[in-house]
Amino acid sequence: MHFVALTIFPEMFPPFWEHGIIRRAREAGHIRTAAVNIRDYADGRHKVTDDRPYGGGCGMVMKPEPLAGAITAARAMAPGAQVVLLSPQGRVFDRKMAHDLARLEGLIFVCGRYEGVDERLVREHVDAEISIGDFVLTGGELGAMIVMDAVTRLIPGVLGGADSADRDSFEDGLLEHAHFTRPPLFAGMAVPSALVSGHHAEIERWRLEDSLIRTFLKRPSLLMERPLETAETAILKKWCQEIERIIASQPVGGAGALPGDK
Ligand code: SAM
Repeated sequence: MHFVALTIFPEMFPPFWEHGIIRRAREAGHIRTAAVNIRDYADGRHKVTDDRPYGGGCGMVMKPEPLAGAITAARAMAPGAQVVLLSPQGRVFDRKMAHDLARLEGLIFVCGRYEGVDERLVREHVDAEISIGDFVLTGGELGAMIVMDAVTRLIPGVLGGADSADRDSFEDGLLEHAHFTRPPLFAGMAVPSALVSGHHAEIERWRLEDSLIRTFLKRPSLLMERPLETAETAILKKWCQEIERIIASQPVGGAGALPGDK
């Protein structure tokens, strides 16, 4: 996978590429990276990359010609790459998109600044617009790094074990279970006994139940969007029974009774 970032701040990228899994992925040849300074493709002594918007108004707009030059250069560096514009108006980045992008040969990231990019550049050169959420950043660089990060860890061979990403949150439609490490007792809290039992089946069952509880409490909509397996349905039914038992144990008209309860 070849990543090329087009930016007026190319110095932002190397620190990101030089740490952790991204650094290892580069060293192992899973990803190649480059940051291209859009300014290098601007004309004139001052290498201007932005101009005032037609129609007036505040802010500046990124000029199309330097960006077009930078995209042409990036395409030569990364043949077959898709050109993506980071934009709050794009499709919101998610797990599915990360998997789709991880299958591509390369990605050229257009990092906007100011009020954004001249629309004609977008229509002529951009294959897709990606947003990283419904909020507005000062520039596309952090968004490009987020996409690079999430995509890189899905490239086969990048993570240690072959299935390291398989159990992450969202992969099977659930949030991942909680994790614990040594010491066995911290702040008065012990590690769940199933995890130190040494019984593989018990550990797996605990993890599935914890995963379901977390998803139910933090992101219940995920459970509605996914078919449940038999073991999962059994766990949910068990909770329902326990909740009904708790409610039934309450005295009628007790402290927790609702108005109108008999
Ligand atoms: N005026 C634009 C609008 O309201 O749609 C916002 C421009 S923003 C200040 C400058 C640049 O930051 C954008 O061109 C884009 O590259 C990047 N950016 C801002 N928010 C983003 C988001 N949520 N996702 C991806 N990129 C974003």
